[in-house]
Amino acid sequence: MEQRLKIIVRGVVQGVGFRPFVYRLARSHDLGGYVANTDQGVTIEVQGEKARVAEFLDRLRTDHPPLAEITDVEIAELPLNSRKAFSIEGSTSVGEEEALVTPDVATCDDCLRELRDQDDRRYRYPFINCTNCGPRFTIIAHLPYDRPRTTMRAFRMCPACDAEYHDPADRRFHAQPNACPVCGPSLTYVAEDGSEVRGADPLAAAVDALRAGKVIAVKGLGGVHLACDARRDDVVARLRARKDREEKPLAIMVSGMEEVEALCEVCPEERALLVSPRRPIVLMRKRQGAEISDLVAPHQKYLGVMLPYTPLHHLLLRDSGMVLIMTSGNRSEEPIVHTNPGALDRLTSIADGFLLHDREIETRCDDSVTRVWRGKELIVRRSRGYAPLPIEMPVGCDRSILACGGELKNTFCLTRGSEAILSHHIGDLKEEPAFDSFVQGIEHLRRLFHIDVQVVTHDLHPDYLSTRYALSLEGVRNVGVQHHHAHVASCLAEHGRDEPVIGISFDGAGYGPDGTIWGGEFLIADLGGYERAGRLAHLSMPGGDRATEEPWRMALSLLYRVFGEDLPPLRCAAVRERERRGWPVLARMIDVGLRTPLTSSAGRLFDAVASLAGVRDYISYEGQAAIELEMAADEREPGAYSFGLSVEPGEDGKEVLVVDPEPMVHELVSDLLAGQEASIVAARFHRGLAQITGQTAQRIRDRGGPGTAVLTGGVFQNMFLCELVAGELEERGFEVLVHSRVPPNDGGISLGQAAVAAVRSR
Ligand code: ZN
Ligand code: ZN
Ligand code: FE
Repeated sequence: MEQRLKIIVRGVVQGVGFRPFVYRLARSHDLGGYVANTDQGVTIEVQGEKARVAEFLDRLRTDHPPLAEITDVEIAELPLNSRKAFSIEGSTSVGEEEALVTPDVATCDDCLRELRDQDDRRYRYPFINCTNCGPRFTIIAHLPYDRPRTTMRAFRMCPACDAEYHDPADRRFHAQPNACPVCGPSLTYVAEDGSEVRGADPLAAAVDALRAGKVIAVKGLGGVHLACDARRDDVVARLRARKDREEKPLAIMVSGMEEVEALCEVCPEERALLVSPRRPIVLMRKRQGAEISDLVAPHQKYLGVMLPYTPLHHLLLRDSGMVLIMTSGNRSEEPIVHTNPGALDRLTSIADGFLLHDREIETRCDDSVTRVWRGKELIVRRSRGYAPLPIEMPVGCDRSILACGGELKNTFCLTRGSEAILSHHIGDLKEEPAFDSFVQGIEHLRRLFHIDVQVVTHDLHPDYLSTRYALSLEGVRNVGVQHHHAHVASCLAEHGRDEPVIGISFDGAGYGPDGTIWGGEFLIADLGGYERAGRLAHLSMPGGDRATEEPWRMALSLLYRVFGEDLPPLRCAAVRERERRGWPVLARMIDVGLRTPLTSSAGRLFDAVASLAGVRDYISYEGQAAIELEMAADEREPGAYSFGLSVEPGEDGKEVLVVDPEPMVHELVSDLLAGQEASIVAARFHRGLAQITGQTAQRIRDRGGPGTAVLTGGVFQNMFLCELVAGELEERGFEVLVHSRVPPNDGGISLGQAAVAAVRSR
């Protein structure tokens, strides 16, 4: 019995080797018909023996290329015809033009086998790739995705590569970056003295340098890494000194799962992320006594680890047999270096040698950082391997939107209907180079996706470079979105939800429309708007921005709020500094509000407690004090400090619940005076804050508020707090939404802005 079916496959099925896969599958099942990309997805017609057609359908779902994600398969029966052959048809209409630009993909197992096969013509070739793996987003200059429109245009395929490229039965059929040692990119090693090594030796030279304890720059997929021995304190210390990165944790790369397990406790979900084709850096609990320098991630419980994701990485890790630091090649806060001249110019003071190659990177793309929470991914930085895959929003908008994001950890976002194309990680938009990268990134993605922007949305902070950029664009409609509303909206959007929720945004800072800095907010919000139902009490920030860099100032502010001039005799930096600097000046600053903005920020409250507990008085990277307070906390300690909850009139006459830290401060101070350990103090603070958060949400619901709570904002990267707050809310019967596919930090702001603007532009 024969059967003829028309099958439409939807999802991530274009530009991922789906058509050649279907071709090979159909041929191996003796089926006639065709496969084509259409604007509906991939359309297939097959005809053949009924049992074989059924098996074809099964394997279509189970054996598809690793990059493909099938969301829907539509099947219709057709009358039989006489077609016996199977073919790959060209694309119809606009389908391919608008097809997805896929993210870069880690080297697949088939390519790895060839890389290690002495008889293969690509044995140890550092740029081996196929239809299922290799560079994509980082090499694409224009669409449709075709070799001449990538940075591979510089390399002309040799006859052997060309034959593979044109053979539908070959696994390199239409693999745009296809290359071999004869025709493709090659390595160079530039040593300290400027001498160059080409040919087979660059890798060996790099390995020798690494073994000798040198720091080397390694050009990879989305940029240049700085690599060095992660086991030697002296080496890591040298890297830190040269990079001007005192304590911020560094990511490491190890050769395989066995090596990961030796360093970290790995759960199955973490393992799945580590080996996934996206190959992010995964934050996992570090094992006691892990064989690694303490300087890699000082004061941390977690270690950021990734597996090799390019053939070059595989060779480097295997040949060296080392655990390598692999950190972004940049000077402090600059964007990651992604060109050879850039590396030789910007990184000479950091790197002793340079392992470079001649395949250009069109778009720089940092490594993604992710983790697992309650068995589910909770991403921290969404970039390589993820961008620019779209996220489906619960709302659509006819007009295309550009969301400019925030200032720190910036990403931007473009929309097409209900699809949000979230950019790669741009970085902190404080300096000119990062801003240039932001503008170039927007232009590039607009061009790639043919998006004609009609609505531009931005943060309310007038001084953010992203806001200024948004307001400088002409002929567009501008939509300003409050920072924490954007945080809540981003979480709603990624969950495909748009009904009102209690959005709990615990964050560092966000411009508040009332002239204070927000960051400890309880918003009754949906995508369209919000109402401030609660907040943390205001704290003064003596010295303004300096209070963010010097947590002891927040500690002093907190003490002053509770005790006035009569400070308790604590042996902490706040009390010491008050003596040294002269308290009256600071007190007066706080009293009259001179360079002393008010903030409801949860991040600043964490800073204050971190300093009081003796954990951190000055920071060298964003969020350090709060992070170290989390790391200090003894999770087994059951105690909790008390907080107060009062009611104050809000701007529009409505009542706002205010979380009062005063009882907490009294209990904290008496603990400290009694000589209590920082680990206990930190835990009690976490638990107390979680409890009052649950109580506050409950009060809001009792007054008619929603029964779903969203946890968002940078502070919810604190896994201990996240778990405690989620627990408190669930005990009270709340449904709790936590981020998964976009970060809770400001990297998610642009998606939230886009969702809000989509609703407001309908
Ligand atoms: Zn491959
Ligand atoms: Zn070749
Ligand atoms: Fe934020």
